[in-house]
Amino acid sequence: MGQCAVDARASLKSMATSDAQNEWGCGSIDVLKLSVRTMAKALFLDRDGVINVDTGYVHTKEDFVFVDGIFDLVRTAVTRGYKVIVITNQAGIGRGYYDENQFLALMDWVAAQFAAAGAPLTAVYFCPHHPEKARDRYRQACDCRKPEPGLLNQAAQDHRLDMSGSIMVGDKNSDMEAARLAGVARRVLFQPTGNTAGKMGSATHIVNHLTEVFPLFAAVNKGRGERSR
Ligand SMILES: [Mg+2]
Ligand SMILES: [Zn+2]
Repeated sequence: MGQCAVDARASLKSMATSDAQNEWGCGSIDVLKLSVRTMAKALFLDRDGVINVDTGYVHTKEDFVFVDGIFDLVRTAVTRGYKVIVITNQAGIGRGYYDENQFLALMDWVAAQFAAAGAPLTAVYFCPHHPEKARDRYRQACDCRKPEPGLLNQAAQDHRLDMSGSIMVGDKNSDMEAARLAGVARRVLFQPTGNTAGKMGSATHIVNHLTEVFPLFAAVNKGRGERSR
């Protein structure tokens, strides 16, 4: 995967979040320490518009406003044995609005907020590219910018994920399409405005509030006859 995999791994290293504290430099990113023989399920989350209110190229904690219900959603997912993995396009890096270090520092802070709330994130994967608008090495038609499934495929490989038992929540059809291409069975389009007409696209569900995602965890477990953790 070239550039994308390098970027993703750089992010993962700085995102080794464990319990309520961050263990930087830790060799493991599998916070839940599931057996290597067990395929884990994931709750994939888009960032802008799902974790934080999308006001456009958010890159400081002062501008980072958490979406209502996001901590409850992540806490519920973790309790049910899901890894919670952020999958985010960050073309603002390629465009030069902020750099990778600023992005990573912000995500370290975001991860700390989730950990402190008893809802630890497992990993963050990001695409810094844009096919036309980015500068230098960031200007490329990569396979990781959603709707391409590259980041999801990399996460599946890194974390041994059962994509057919996993869930994606995003606020754009590009999130839904990337998830569909990666084999994620349940694809939830989050539309807090309630305007859902004609929005189905590649989604399997549309919700107006993040708490509406909760029943899907049970549905996945029951449907696949798996034990919850
Ligand atoms: Mg979004
Ligand atoms: Zn990319």
